[in-house]
Amino acid sequence: MKLKSNLAALCFVLFLPYYSFAQTEPQNLEMVYKIKQFEKTNSQIEELSFWMTDFLGPRLTASNGNEKANQWVADKFKQLGFSNIVIDSVRPFERGGWDNSKTYVAMTTPYYANFSALPKAWTSGTLGIVKSEVVLVNIQSEADFEIYSGKLNGKIVILPSVAVYQPNFEPIATRFDAESLKALAKESTEIRSRNIDRAAFGKIRELNQKIATFFMKEKVAAVLNNSGEFNVPKATGANYVIGNQFPVPEINLPIEAHGRILRLLAHTIPVEMEIEVENSFTPNNKVVNVMGEIPGTDKKLKDQIVLVGAHLDSWHGGTGAADNASGAIVMMEALRILKELGVQPRRTIRIALWGGEEQGLHGSRGYVEKYLRDAKTNDLKPGFNQFTVYFNMDNGTGKFRGIYLQGNEMIRPIFEQWMIPFVDMDCSAIAIGNTGSTDHVSFDALGLPAFQFIQDKIEYSRGYHTNMDTYERLIMSDLKQNALIVAAFVYHAAMRDEQLPRKPYQAPKI
Ligand SMILES: [Zn+2]
Repeated sequence: MKLKSNLAALCFVLFLPYYSFAQTEPQNLEMVYKIKQFEKTNSQIEELSFWMTDFLGPRLTASNGNEKANQWVADKFKQLGFSNIVIDSVRPFERGGWDNSKTYVAMTTPYYANFSALPKAWTSGTLGIVKSEVVLVNIQSEADFEIYSGKLNGKIVILPSVAVYQPNFEPIATRFDAESLKALAKESTEIRSRNIDRAAFGKIRELNQKIATFFMKEKVAAVLNNSGEFNVPKATGANYVIGNQFPVPEINLPIEAHGRILRLLAHTIPVEMEIEVENSFTPNNKVVNVMGEIPGTDKKLKDQIVLVGAHLDSWHGGTGAADNASGAIVMMEALRILKELGVQPRRTIRIALWGGEEQGLHGSRGYVEKYLRDAKTNDLKPGFNQFTVYFNMDNGTGKFRGIYLQGNEMIRPIFEQWMIPFVDMDCSAIAIGNTGSTDHVSFDALGLPAFQFIQDKIEYSRGYHTNMDTYERLIMSDLKQNALIVAAFVYHAAMRDEQLPRKPYQAPKI
């Protein structure tokens, strides 16, 4: 023991001046104190949560609900004193706007049962109430079309189940303990391939499009599919148009309702249903982001951008609270804290609330194409060099427990320092690995520093994209904590002398 500590002391004396001091990232702990105090006593998280969920409602990409949210956010940015506010159109969105204004789905024979259901986005409505027997249609290949040809006019069609209910013995909300956080941060040389069979996936998509065209030709009244469980439907969207027409009305039923109908039919018990779905379409064929800024004040650095964001769009079940009003609220609150504290950042701090994330990260990818790199020529734009860092949040309401480095080891000593004031708030882990599937990926793909925090998993996998994703899913104390951590990270990124270290740039293949 003694020898060991002497050795440690020797190392300390010999190497500290060369290693530790040179590497220590300066941070303004007085500002961290102010940020914490401000958020603890002046938080607007509850208010923002109400307006962003109960008031705005669902925000499906390009829908009227999304339009209303964009305008509301732009107005809010103005009220908060942000500068250079813009509703920025970045990509086309051929499907256009789609809004649901009525959904009634019930079984009437062999007995009455009202089902909680969601129409698939970008499918048609029923043009009034439809009453019909329900027919199981199982098309596995094009040869099967013949079996049903001429027999489906005016019928309600049910598709075979795509999911089997599995009891879940895991808790629906968990917080990381020290052990699980450590495991998450572990680095490995193991190559985990995701084994996506793109050819098979393409074939399924092609067949589904042919099935949708067949149903339209056969004048099917409505199609029942399954998505969601616990009698809560999960929202999805049709991803094709037929000519310039939308597929026949298609409805997602939770597995319990869908399974009940299938089991009745399997026992040759006739099932009749009545369905009414009203949908409207608007020619709003663009993806937009809403942006605002706290302008930089340092002559040399003010064109450099410290970016924070989250996607504003949601699915049409629920009010998109955990996915992803929570992220949008935290990022807005983080900038509000800095603005209210009168921070004069050296670099410009920009917030971007993205559109079209759920359909393929369109908002953030569109931002990259517009400001950082030309998608056709791969030429880099001025924004590429001016980009300092991006922080994203999109994993529900859970509090931050650390951060993923996306493989960028160079940034570890910086984040380690910035995280010290939050260790006692349980935010301490630094994971070298990646997290994916959301908007930071658009920047990380170019080697730019773009990060997501590690979040506790609170009811996320069960509720997202469903009618359950409402205000109740938000934990205010977790969101407050996240907002003050983002505010401190953003402040330090905006004030340090140098840009943050990047991974080497690799031009994506054209
Ligand atoms: Zn999301």
